[in-house]
Amino acid sequence: MQSPPSLVVVLGTGGTIAGTAAHAGDNVGYSAAQIGAAQLLAAIPALARQPIEVEQIAQVDSKDMGFAVWRALAAAAERHLARPEVGAIVVTHGTDTAEETAYFLQRVLAPSKPVVLVAAMRPSTSLQADGPQNLLDAMTVAREPGARGVVVVLAGQVHGGLDLRKVHTYRLDAFGSGDAGVLAQVEEGRLRRHRDWPAGVAMGLARLPRDVAQWPVVEIVTSHSESRGVLVRALRDAGVHGIVVAATGNGSLHHALEAALVDAQAAGVAVLRCTRTLGGGLIDAVPPVLPSAGALTPVQARIELMLQLLAKRAA
Ligand code: ASP
Repeated sequence: MQSPPSLVVVLGTGGTIAGTAAHAGDNVGYSAAQIGAAQLLAAIPALARQPIEVEQIAQVDSKDMGFAVWRALAAAAERHLARPEVGAIVVTHGTDTAEETAYFLQRVLAPSKPVVLVAAMRPSTSLQADGPQNLLDAMTVAREPGARGVVVVLAGQVHGGLDLRKVHTYRLDAFGSGDAGVLAQVEEGRLRRHRDWPAGVAMGLARLPRDVAQWPVVEIVTSHSESRGVLVRALRDAGVHGIVVAATGNGSLHHALEAALVDAQAAGVAVLRCTRTLGGGLIDAVPPVLPSAGALTPVQARIELMLQLLAKRAA
């Protein structure tokens, strides 16, 4: 296969990979998003002579990720991907919401070149800093001939952007891909691939209003023992456009919560049901009262519903 164009554009957004702590032994009491992406790259000698451009899009702890950063990030990625000399984008990101940003970017852009999110579980000052190796691995994926779509690199593993979930609070290999399994492994600068790159139809950036206050509001509620409809009614009164419900098991709902959701749906609130379990998807025996999000996690289903509502508005 032909070698891809060599220029990689790195878009910085913050995260622990750009975090610092007062002491090298401190792996949890640090501040995320302190140093720029250019500085992260400068710390990796192997990247010194590689053609790389850097643009700092944001500097946030990804727990605070929001629509404004997503829109700016998607717009920058689209702009750079359209340049013929650009072969790939690398996005430095926090681990906490990488699964949301990855899902969002894949659904909006479905890029034919690779967009590689990279994160770290330890701040840059840590004795155990994993950022530099993860960034180097992300560059390997970015330059892989034939690579495409949004993927996420952490701890030598490459996850498809539509499959990623954070599965551990502390371990360096904190990401999983559920039933889909990891897409590839990066080993000593080489890729060992297990399945295809992410593909799909792009929703397109044009559907996302520049004014993010215009984006639909979708909230998540959970079904659990002694559930009541009180949150659903409060959300409806607050004027939300959609509600995702994280159901028990194979999509079952506490009867009181289900009744409130059915009422909300009848009143025009879009409702989507997914499972709160850590694996598998919903398998409906009979047509469900409330629509199913299949195998999407609650946070993925929330983005999906938001995008569906935007698409409907544009239709
Ligand atoms: N709170 C951090 C963030 O998501 C955690 C991390 O990056 O590991 O930005």
